Amino acid sequence: MYKVSIEGENVGYIKNKQELEDKINTQILQSKEENLVSVNLKTNPTYELKLVSKDEPTSEEEILIALKEKTLKTYKFYSVTLADVNQAYVDTIEEAEEVVNKIKEEYNQDLELDLKIIEQYTENKEEVKNTSIEVAKQNIENVIEKKLDDESIAVINSIRLSVLPINGTITSRYGAVSRIRVSTHTGLDIANVTGTNIKVVAKGTVSFAQKSGSYGNLVKVNHGNGVETWYAHCSKIYAKVGQEVKAGDIIAAVGSTGNSTGPHLHFEIRINGKTVNPQNYMYK
Ligand SMILES: [Zn+2]
Repeated sequence: MYKVSIEGENVGYIKNKQELEDKINTQILQSKEENLVSVNLKTNPTYELKLVSKDEPTSEEEILIALKEKTLKTYKFYSVTLADVNQAYVDTIEEAEEVVNKIKEEYNQDLELDLKIIEQYTENKEEVKNTSIEVAKQNIENVIEKKLDDESIAVINSIRLSVLPINGTITSRYGAVSRIRVSTHTGLDIANVTGTNIKVVAKGTVSFAQKSGSYGNLVKVNHGNGVETWYAHCSKIYAKVGQEVKAGDIIAAVGSTGNSTGPHLHFEIRINGKTVNPQNYMYK
């Protein structure tokens, strides 16, 4: 019989060396487990031929159990990272790609996302908290939403205003009374030179883009949830009705068309059709 030792310690006796080697292969080295990519024995058993009495019991099962405790298992996971920070672990590359694609579909219009998939190996499966596609997607979305809220100038009815239309000097405030108008001022006037790019403050759809009486060349953008922004007295209109825009897109240029005494942007925010003071939200 063979006396079997692991790291110099006797773990039992066997009759057939090959039979044990085969069982080590099928029951330990080729074991199947989720995320498992390789199993290695940290140490190989040593065999010593012994002459023993005929009824010495064999202990193959005990030897296999002892060897199982001396294995090094490596597991593979896929980490989905945002700006190089791990957000979630999933089991397969296909799942990771699905998470990334779903998020990109949702946000691609609005922002550049630094999403990556990284193959990761670990010997400690417990330290990896792998999740379903849905949970991974939700985790990442929460981070993105938080970041967007932090970066925005103001949020009205869940619409994030994240860009100022132009920089410039405030020349007339909302509600101001003036000889050149019939009613009180419905927007905020910001002066800058003719041709200055006017940016849309939030994502939305262009709902109006043409000359309109005292407003001169006027662009209206519908942001949804009852929120609309108006950009008036433009020298040029670049946007077209029906165009989908995102915050920061250039839609027109500063001018002095319509009822205006010099180049400036007349900017309005409307909530459910009623004008509100833009300085409640920006240019405070
Ligand atoms: Zn005005």
